[in-house]
Order: sequence, then C-alpha cells, then structure tokens
Amino acid sequence: MAQLMDGKAISEAVRKRIRQEIEALQEEQGITPGLAVVLVGEDSASEVYVKNKEKACEEVGISFELFRLSASITQQELEETICSLNEREDIDGILLQLPLPGKLDSDRVVSLIRPDKDVDAFHPENIGHIMRGDFFFLPCTPAGIMQMLRESGINPTGKRCVMVGRSDIVGKPMAMLLLHADATVTICHSKTENLAQICREADILVSAVGKAGFITSDMVCPGAVVIDVGMNRNAEGKLCGDVDFESVEPIASYITPVPGGVGPMTVAMLLQNTLVAAKRHGGITV
Ligand code: NDP
Repeated sequence: MAQLMDGKAISEAVRKRIRQEIEALQEEQGITPGLAVVLVGEDSASEVYVKNKEKACEEVGISFELFRLSASITQQELEETICSLNEREDIDGILLQLPLPGKLDSDRVVSLIRPDKDVDAFHPENIGHIMRGDFFFLPCTPAGIMQMLRESGINPTGKRCVMVGRSDIVGKPMAMLLLHADATVTICHSKTENLAQICREADILVSAVGKAGFITSDMVCPGAVVIDVGMNRNAEGKLCGDVDFESVEPIASYITPVPGGVGPMTVAMLLQNTLVAAKRHGGITV
C-alpha cells in the first residue's frame, strides 16, 4: 500500500507560513500584496479555478481583483487591459486565466505581462530563467510537486524520473526542475514508442496527460513514486486524475490523490509567487 502524499495538508502549512509573512510585511512595511486575475468568457472550469484562487488569496491576506471580460473582447482590448495592470502599483501579480476563448492569442497576451508581475511564470523571460535554474518565480504546478517530494523525504537526485506530458505549463518545467535536482529525466508524449516500458523504469513517475485512467498498474514499477497532475472527470462526472488509483496505489510507494494532491499545491505556489513579487516591488531582498 502506498503512502498518500497529502497536498491539502502540505499546502495548508505553506499557506500558514505565507499568511504570517504577509502579516509581518503589512505591519513592518505597510505592504499588502495584490493579485489581478483576468478571466475572459465563461468557461465553467476556469470559473472554479478562479474562485479557488480568490478564496486562497483572502485567507492569506493578498488583495484579489478579478477582471471579468466578455468573450467578444478584441485582442487589442485585452492587451490594453494587461498593459494598464502592468502600470498599477498596487498590483504585484497578474494572472491570465487560460484557455482564452475564440481566436484570442494567449501567447501574445502572456508575453505582454511584465515579467516581474508574471506570477504564473509563463512569460518567455521567466521560462528562460526556469531553463537556467536561476528563477525567482516558481512554475506553480512543478514547484508544488517538488515541495511535496521534499516534504515526503523523497530526493530525486540520481533517480530515474519519467514525465508523461510535455506541455509548457506542466511537462517541460517539471522536467527542468527534476533535472536541476540532478535526476535523470525522460519526457514522454503522444508520439513516444514503448510508453509503458519507459514508465516502468521510473523511480518517480509524473503524469500530466489529461486522460482519466491513463496510467495503469502495468506501467508502474513496484515501489515507484507516482505523481498525478491530471484533473479529469470520469464517466460519473467525478473529479479524477490520470492514474488508475485503485490498481496503482497497492504497488506504488507514494502516490498523490486527486483531488487533494497536486491541485492545492499549485494554488499555494501562486500565493508564494505573489508574495515574492510584492517583496521585490517593495525593495525587499528575497
Ligand atoms: P496538455 O493537453 O497541454 O498536454 C498533455 C500532454 O499529454 C501532451 O504533451 C500530450 O502529448 C500528452 N499526451 C496526450 N496523449 C498521450 C498519450 N496517449 N501518450 C503519451 N502522452 C500523451 O495538458 P496540460 O499539461 O495543460 O495538463 C495536463 C493535465 O493536468 C490536465 O488534466 C490538466 O487539467 C491538469 N493540470 C492540473 C494542474 C493542477 O494544478 N493539478 C495544473 C495544470 C494542469 P503531445 O505533446 O504529443 O500532444
């Protein structure tokens, strides 16, 4: 039986520390970190994610401002919104909720966010820092996973790690963080041949595919650490990950549940990035 990596409990501890730091920042420097979230259109999943972020900000004392824009907004109007937020001194972090509807060009909009306010770390400049390993904004989901590994006493150094998925927001930065931690990393994707065999070689297996039940027990080496990033709905409409939990949990050494695993850690890292941005804007060394 695997040990559960409780993202909810670990993220609560992180949030508590952030709340204390923000209280001190307010008392000693008069600084309240501010986060602006730009939400375009009416995607129901995005609505839930934004609500979660708002609640988390309120809990730790980050001032949260939602910019709700119509799906009919033009590219230029959206870009102007970002540029105006770049100018506002009370806003330390800007988050563009993805995906954008219609033909709006998200890459272009993200590249307009000032890098020092890019708390999702999606701006090309921040991606470059993640590649080099000298970043100050954490890529939220990968950083949350690294924190969970640390808290569970799992050191990736020298370990064989397999990342299934190569997206810009999860797969690639996760592989980079594992590489920076001196793991031997393989990145897999939809064109990978012999996927099950490669996955079976993993000491640490991370899945970010977006398909319920994708990772089955025959893809997991007994004793492996299994990290499930996926957020999917099963046939009954219930939230689930990529991993077939029932068959994999008995053979893994550690496993993240969905919900209550990687998801809460991602939000905690966003709060952490907003705090870092506020400190930097306040001239405080981080
Ligand atoms: P993307 O759709 O951008 O990427 C999915 C990746 O999976 C792609 O690289 C794709 O390969 C790969 N893939 C698809 N099918 C296969 C296959 N049959 N075999 C091997 N690889 C395959 O998704 P994201 O990275 O944005 O998200 C992945 C999942 O993680 C989603 O469920 C998402 O909701 C969730 N998520 C959860 C977060 C959290 O906080 N818990 C945060 C972000 C995402 P290819 O590149 O070749 O197409």
